[in-house]
Amino acid sequence: MVHKIAVLTSGGDAPGMNAAIRAVTRAAVDVGWDVVGVRHGYAGLMAGEFVPFSIRSVGGIIQLGGTILGSARSLEFKTDEGRKKAIRNMSAAGIDGLVVIGGNGSQTGAYMLSQMGFPVNGVASTIDNDLVGSDITLGVDTALNIALEAIDRLKTTASSHTRAFLIEVMGRGCGYLALMAAIAGGAEAAVIPEIETTPEQVAEIIKKSYERGKAHAIIVVAEGAKYELNALMTYFKDKKDELGFELRGTELGHIQRGGAPGAFDRVLGTRLGAGAVEAMARGEYGVLTGLKGNELAWTPLAECVGKTKGISDKLFKLASIMA
Ligand code: ATP
Repeated sequence: MVHKIAVLTSGGDAPGMNAAIRAVTRAAVDVGWDVVGVRHGYAGLMAGEFVPFSIRSVGGIIQLGGTILGSARSLEFKTDEGRKKAIRNMSAAGIDGLVVIGGNGSQTGAYMLSQMGFPVNGVASTIDNDLVGSDITLGVDTALNIALEAIDRLKTTASSHTRAFLIEVMGRGCGYLALMAAIAGGAEAAVIPEIETTPEQVAEIIKKSYERGKAHAIIVVAEGAKYELNALMTYFKDKKDELGFELRGTELGHIQRGGAPGAFDRVLGTRLGAGAVEAMARGEYGVLTGLKGNELAWTPLAECVGKTKGISDKLFKLASIMA
């Protein structure tokens, strides 16, 4: 049975991570366990960067973006020796359980640790929403709203100047953020990794929008699409006169990650963080805590890692019908 638990955030930061750190801490204290925060993800785990946490240490953070623990990417943790070092450090500090708040790569690390016999549970947290085991991951909703605000603004300037905009959003190999941003932002198309849209098809969509008398055309492009922003801008370089609209490209980049988490992610982070502890308290390890329907779900990490969640064909079709 776990008596002292560590919590870390790893990989790309996601709005709501602080809510999850707070929930892990308070839920663990509630069942009578000690808690330590680990700074800088797996790198801090290998360096023994442990900070004792109390209920008060995590006060006043639920509304903050990013992660108070810091995050990092670590190549050393991908090695057996790196992970052994992490386990040695935790054992020396009397830590007998770990909660990993992070995305696909981070949960792969968590799985590797659990395979070595260490009790680990994950919290599904990434703005990419690519994790199998959770319908929606922590941070997606806030990132989507930030992308949407930018799209709304670009639409205003696009209409004023009769322009077409290609707007690139994040998501790694998953088109969820782009597709949802396209639907919610009333875009003409979403270019995503899962369903190929060629530059010729994008050109056709923009031209048709112009011919229909639209004041603008907005195409949301996922960073992981075969024809992402750079590829499309290169294609259109010598075809400017064929589109009707003048063309501009904008990469939203890291502004999608920053900022205060919305209500949805604060509540989701709280539920998932407490859920990871709840599973540990009943002796369930090596699982990813996620949301399925509107209920918490604990899926073995073995079933989640090394995969990318698919996209709904129906939603993709809906986006094109609405365009
Ligand atoms: P996001 O996709 O939201 O940025 P992520 O958790 O997927 O988040 P990654 O950079 O893929 O981010 O992974 C974070 C860290 O997890 C890596 O730097 C590495 O330390 C660890 N990790 C990734 N893959 C593995 C692996 N195969 N084995 C062990 N550890 C891994």
